[in-house]
Amino acid sequence: MTMSATLAELVRDFKANGRIVIVGASLAGLRAAEALREEGFSGSLTIIGDEPYEPYDRPPLSKQVLKGWVPADHTLLPRFRELDAQWRLGVAATGLDRATRQVRLADGEQVPYHRLLIATGTRARQWPNPTEAALEGVFSLRSRDDAARLQRALAERPSRVLVIGGGFIGSEVASVCRELDIPVTVAERGSAPLVGALGGVIGEIAAEMQRDHGVDLRCGVGVSSLEGDTRGHVRRARLSDGTTVEADVVLAALGSIRNVEWLEGSGLAAGFWGVGCDAGGRAFDINGVVTDTVYVAGDVARAPHVLYEYQFLAMEHWDNAVFGAEVAAHNMVSLEPDYRPHLLLPGFWSGQFGVNIKSVGVPPFGDEIVFTQGSVKERRFVAAYGRRGRIVAAVSFDHGKWLEYYARLIEQSAPFPPPPPGWDRPDVMKPVPAEFPAPGVPTAIPDVVLTGHDPSGRSAEFRPRGR
Ligand SMILES: Cc1cc2nc3c(=O)[nH]c(=O)nc-3n(C[C@H](O)[C@H](O)[C@H](O)COP(=O)(O)OP(=O)(O)OC[C@H]3O[C@@H](n4cnc5c(N)ncnc54)[C@H](O)[C@@H]3O)c2cc1C
Repeated sequence: MTMSATLAELVRDFKANGRIVIVGASLAGLRAAEALREEGFSGSLTIIGDEPYEPYDRPPLSKQVLKGWVPADHTLLPRFRELDAQWRLGVAATGLDRATRQVRLADGEQVPYHRLLIATGTRARQWPNPTEAALEGVFSLRSRDDAARLQRALAERPSRVLVIGGGFIGSEVASVCRELDIPVTVAERGSAPLVGALGGVIGEIAAEMQRDHGVDLRCGVGVSSLEGDTRGHVRRARLSDGTTVEADVVLAALGSIRNVEWLEGSGLAAGFWGVGCDAGGRAFDINGVVTDTVYVAGDVARAPHVLYEYQFLAMEHWDNAVFGAEVAAHNMVSLEPDYRPHLLLPGFWSGQFGVNIKSVGVPPFGDEIVFTQGSVKERRFVAAYGRRGRIVAAVSFDHGKWLEYYARLIEQSAPFPPPPPGWDRPDVMKPVPAEFPAPGVPTAIPDVVLTGHDPSGRSAEFRPRGR
């Protein structure tokens, strides 16, 4: 038998008799499982998830679910094909032994694998004071149960909602409150909402938009403490500027934490920003050696991106979870010459205050911004971000149809400022500083972060405090 025939036989055998385990039964986990079957993998497939539910979609949770349009339990992800898989739902993976290739479960079971996909995503950062966090009326928003609880609280028409953190989720919830005609205060430590993700120039537009819709927006202030009444229900927040806000619903929208603790001791490059992997989804170990058996996808993955100086990019975006999962699945059942890279251009969408905000690229990588189309006054525009004379990102407000054009320019590292494609050029097309907060200035953590060149991410390793 020739070498290539032998290798082909190996792949066929693995596809028929291999054993693949996916940890994380959500968007990335489900799409990877479907892609594996699509790739012809007919071996044993186990999907482990600590939530008791089948995979559901999170974006509607902060939008249609909170408005009361869609019940939280009607958000199941569509299935694109039959999945012959063993589902282990409602049980967490608690450890990984790479030497014996086994995943440890909370119920004591050990699940063996030949290839493993880590798709454990992120969880919401809770309000840091546990006593205050336990007050009735204090919420965070990540899961379908969180959304159901918050929706019920909003349906009871609270006298005021306080949203702590003006990132995407905080801003979307503030928008829902205003749509429901509920008074809402947003407290943001940075200079404007969305400032960490989109910079100060766009942040100012977002701030104006919030105020125009009646949001009591407080920027440059933190919430120091929450106070409850004698029945243990939250009633008041004290802010760092000495003011107080009376509120009976508080949402801590403080960003997320990567679910990597279960990998402690596994020797993988798991840290604060997730699990380091190569562009094909193969996990790195803590010494920067790429593994052959462990793959990563979705919000918990951080991988180098050719367009951004090969820095490791951590992304909490829906598209990234879907395409990253498909690439990892393909590579899990392929030989090296057929490996594919996951080099998706980051992109997100958000609906708030009646405006559809979309972005491509990595805005915080840019230091300049220029409005290229439309009108800021009408909140219908495109702006491009540049760095050292090339375009690196673009954002649109109610002008999303043009983003494809900018995406192609970003992929080609085209010159900045870019030529606008349309006829609706703004009067002034002059680049100005994009005004991203300096590193270390407290603000909402953006959901696309360039995390440097260290594959092991040890410099930012997450060490949970002793409990
Ligand atoms: C409210 C909200 C609104 C959003 N809106 C948008 C949007 O408008 N646009 C956009 O692009 N993105 C949006 N996102 C982000 C998007 O939902 C995520 O990018 C996507 O869910 C990532 O999928 P994932 O499978 O990687 O991770 P997750 O969805 O986080 O899933 C990980 C799963 O693994 C489970 N898990 C964790 N640890 C373990 C363990 N040890 N053992 C077993 N299971 C474990 C988790 O419980 C979870 O079920 C939003 C997210 C939220 C929360």
